[in-house]
Formats: sequence, structure tokens, C-alpha cells
Amino acid sequence: MKQSLMRPEFIELAPPVLEDGVLYISQKYKTSLHKCCCGCGETVVLQLTPAHWQVEVHGSKVSLHPSVGNWGMRCQSHYWIKNSQVVWAKQMSPSQIAAVRERDKQDQAIHIARVNASKSQNAGALNTLWELLKKLGRWLMG
Ligand SMILES: [Zn+2]
Repeated sequence: MKQSLMRPEFIELAPPVLEDGVLYISQKYKTSLHKCCCGCGETVVLQLTPAHWQVEVHGSKVSLHPSVGNWGMRCQSHYWIKNSQVVWAKQMSPSQIAAVRERDKQDQAIHIARVNASKSQNAGALNTLWELLKKLGRWLMG
């Protein structure tokens, strides 16, 4: 069934059967699981790291950033979870999907370079790389 509301549930390990309309959050494993909101029955696994997704829980409300784009799945559904509401995105063309995926990859590369730079002995060189990636990112995002 297509979902319009999601509620958060904190877990340590994934339950064997996932309920519709529940966003399972494992802080220990920095992972979230939910059944695809379109009702196709597929499980969507999201990594909760600054380079991937962030989840915010306020009482019984949950928000997820950025949007969930299930382009690796048959349904190709794309939606936001904002204040527990499922907000459906318009169907994107294959070229739009490719552009978004490319941008996400750039964001991740920037984040990873920044984290590594802060931990590296050779921080100077990596900072230069990070600046370069930032410029590249800006250029790609117009
Ligand atoms: Zn689906």
C-alpha cells in the first residue's frame, strides 16, 4: 500500500519482518531501513552519515534528508519524508536522475575528502584537493 505517513522506530538490529509506514533507525549501525513508500514491498536501506542521509526525530515525527530516490529499484520512486509526511516527487527523466546521482556522488567525494584531510598528516595537499572538488561541485551544480 502506498504510504503517506511514516513513524520512526529506534532499533539495534533489523526485525525479520518490516512494517509498512515505519522508518527503522539503528544509531549503532548508522543505518535506516524502511519498506519503500510506494508499496512495492522492497526494503530501502539508507546509511545515516553526513555524506549520505540524516534523520531527525522530534517526538513521533521523523524527517529524512535528502530525498529518497529508489532508482536502483523497479518502482523508481522518489520522495521526501518531512515531519513524518511522505512527499512525492515528480517522476524524473533518466537524464535528470543521472544528474542527481552525479551530484550526490560529488557531494560524497567532497565530504570524504574533507574528513580525510582533517585526519591526514598531509592535510595541506588534501585541502587543495578539497578546494578543487568544491570548485568542481559548484561548476557541476551551476
Ligand atoms: Zn517502491
